[in-house]
Amino acid sequence: MSCSQKPVEMGNPLLSTFDTPFGVPPFQEIKVENYIPAYEEAMKMHKLEIDEIVNNNESPNFSNTIEKLENSGKVLSQVSSVFNNLNACITSDEMQETAQFIAPLTSKHYDDISLNAELFKRVKVVYDDRENIDLSPEQQRLLEVIFKNFERGGANLSLDDQETLRKINGELALLKLQFDDNALAETNNFKLIIDNEDDLAGLPQTVIEAAAKTATENGLENKWVFTTHKPSMLPFLTYADNRELRKNLHTAYIMRGDNNNEHDNKNILTQIALLWTKKSQLFGFNNNAEYVLDKNMAKTPEKVFEFTNKVWDAALPIAKAEVQELQKLIDSEGGNFKLEHYDWWYYSEKLRSQKFNLDEEMLRPYFELNQVRDGAFMVATKLFGLKFVERFDIPIYHPDVEVFEVLNADNSHLGILYMDWFPRSSKGGGAWMDAFRKQEEGVSPVITTNFNFTAPSGDKPALLSIDEVETTFHEFGHALHGLLSNCKYNLLSGTSVSRDFVEFPSQFMENYSTDPEVLKMYAKHYETGETIPDELINKFKNSGLFNNGFVVVEYTAAALLDMHWNTITDTVERDATQFEDEVIAKINLIPEIVVRYRSPYFTHIFGGGYAAGYYSYQWAQVIDADAFSVFKEKGLFDAKTAASLRDNVFSRGNTEPSMDLYKKFRGSEPKLDAFLKRNGLE
Ligand SMILES: [Zn+2]
Repeated sequence: MSCSQKPVEMGNPLLSTFDTPFGVPPFQEIKVENYIPAYEEAMKMHKLEIDEIVNNNESPNFSNTIEKLENSGKVLSQVSSVFNNLNACITSDEMQETAQFIAPLTSKHYDDISLNAELFKRVKVVYDDRENIDLSPEQQRLLEVIFKNFERGGANLSLDDQETLRKINGELALLKLQFDDNALAETNNFKLIIDNEDDLAGLPQTVIEAAAKTATENGLENKWVFTTHKPSMLPFLTYADNRELRKNLHTAYIMRGDNNNEHDNKNILTQIALLWTKKSQLFGFNNNAEYVLDKNMAKTPEKVFEFTNKVWDAALPIAKAEVQELQKLIDSEGGNFKLEHYDWWYYSEKLRSQKFNLDEEMLRPYFELNQVRDGAFMVATKLFGLKFVERFDIPIYHPDVEVFEVLNADNSHLGILYMDWFPRSSKGGGAWMDAFRKQEEGVSPVITTNFNFTAPSGDKPALLSIDEVETTFHEFGHALHGLLSNCKYNLLSGTSVSRDFVEFPSQFMENYSTDPEVLKMYAKHYETGETIPDELINKFKNSGLFNNGFVVVEYTAAALLDMHWNTITDTVERDATQFEDEVIAKINLIPEIVVRYRSPYFTHIFGGGYAAGYYSYQWAQVIDADAFSVFKEKGLFDAKTAASLRDNVFSRGNTEPSMDLYKKFRGSEPKLDAFLKRNGLE
């Protein structure tokens, strides 16, 4: 430990320069009680920096105003990136209380800046003169983005409206935190406890062992526990013969945040939706979707609905046909019941193995976690010449976390990559990438990726499902976007692109995870080392579109639900259940499929930054399918195409509008063909 000599009285570790390898956060030194004083001090420092810009006697120019502003608040971002990342993946009551305390303060702090009239005046002077000043394209872009941010932050509003906006922002910040905390509490609350071995019928041995381990961790001996965390729930829904228990578990999952208890999210989310509408209307928009989409590729709600409805109309009949097939299977087995939402995984898995002689569990032994991770690394090596060196001298915040130094082909340092694989009760659900430090000129990135994967159990290593394999490559794609960033300014670097473009690099990488050519390179049996056989690859490929109606409909229903919550144009308080039911009825979602995220646990939109943005994944699929088709044509690792992708997209952050970047790579806008073909929607 390089810093063990440092006396504690020297101050708050969050406020000093991090004296660690590559300047990563000194996790061991940081205590929960450090955050609030660090935030307060860092906000004070930031405010002084802003005052200095405002009080400058020189007339405003790019360097004394725009660049100064861009370089201000560095300590505050240092503090908040550590706090936000750790609160997401290793939270506690104290961390959550700290977040509740800090949220209104930071909301006010940033409002004080974007609503600072004197500051905006200076920014506007430079912006209005932009045609006449000699700036690089990236500087022009910085100026534009900063000016837009002021506009969108309320700088042009009347003083009265600015006051209203401050209130709304403060309330939203708190409500979003409560929403996320409730969703996490509800996910942790439910446990399906099994004490009768007969109730395990149908489950693979690995799943049973994992459930026994979960029971032990919960202090239960000779029992098995399943939870609503996906790595625990999905295998149960897929294999458990006991229909009643499948019903219990899946019902618990879809009722999270909707149990009329202290963690109920219905009232919170309707408050959030109401505030969205109010806020957007301050800016002269009809609804929040218009306000949000104004800065995205899609631009308008009409454009999103047009695209999403097109997919919906093509996918819904396919899902309905799947229902018929599953019902036929139930009937043929003499099951005297109608297919329900909690039956879908079980019967589709049965049908898959009948039709393709393929059981998802047959694939797992070829997807040991370390090999999958190394497979993703190998793809980055072949595409971009990167090297990944595991380091044991770099601070980590939890023993499960792995950390890698990422090097360029010439061995120069590119950045640091954290990988945090397994679920714990202190970690949010799903998977995500973030940065402890974003790249900018002279500063290398420190990137982190989070997953909730099947953990090793007994002498079995972590063997991933296909879904988890794709997720590994997905988050790794985001990580590459952050690592390969080569921008001058922090505000524009890495993944700071429009919401409906940010999923392009991640989904692009997913294509590699299951490509036969790539599978043969990394998918090796964890015991025998045997490469995945062609026969298994073929079975897998042949079954590629199996159950895809379900997948597309489940997702698209959530995208449409999001859009409906965000296109409300009146400020009448809604009943969450009734509103959701109306949307479901309107789009004709079939009862056998539950929307991928019901409103009370739709954390992407009510807790995170995806409001009026959940469509983005599908939108970006059009782009990633189009881009990958170039590699399929020219070679999966074609050097010239890869270099063009790196130079025009992965390294460029938000230094140009997303579509311009893409066109520089592709020579034209993405076409829908590859996307429709991949999804069997032609
Ligand atoms: Zn993503």
